[in-house]
Parts: sequence; structure tokens; C-alpha cells
Amino acid sequence: MFTKSDGTHKDPKPREANWIRRSQQNPKSLKLAIRATCFYCVGGTEEEEPDSGWRKVISECTSFKCPLHTYRPTKTIREGVPST
Ligand code: SF4
Repeated sequence: MFTKSDGTHKDPKPREANWIRRSQQNPKSLKLAIRATCFYCVGGTEEEEPDSGWRKVISECTSFKCPLHTYRPTKTIREGVPST
């Protein structure tokens, strides 16, 4: 919760849970682009999330030849919402 200059509180805008749409909202973010690619790789689309457990699949990805493997989100994934 943020406190505005007049002392009132304002709830932060909820984060987009879909990583592809989130990347589209921040098209200059390389980090979000990588996340969106991994999200897509495990079956996610702009409309829906992949099967349950997809975060763990990305975190434990064994495609070592994938150019994004080093940069994929791993420990930074919080349940439900990716960190920035
Ligand atoms: S790192 Fe793994 S999950 Fe991410 S795009 Fe590459 S193969 Fe897919």
C-alpha cells in the first residue's frame, strides 16, 4: 500500500499474472521477455497459463542447450506472481 502526499493510502495496481501479457506491457524489459519466452515454452499463451506446476518446470528446466537457460527465472519465482 502506498501513502500519497495527502496522507491517504492507495493500493498498488495488481501485477499481471500472465507473463506474456506482462512482457507486452513492458516491451523494453529484457528480463520480462525471457520470462515470457519460458512461459510460452512450457505451454503458456496470451490467453491462458500452462498446466499447473509450470513454474517448477521452468525452474528445473534441463534444456541446457537453450540459449536462455542461464537466464531463466529460477529462485526468484514467487508462488503466483513473478518478481520484477
Ligand atoms: S530455458 Fe528452458 S523453459 Fe526457458 S525457453 Fe529455454 S527450454 Fe524453455
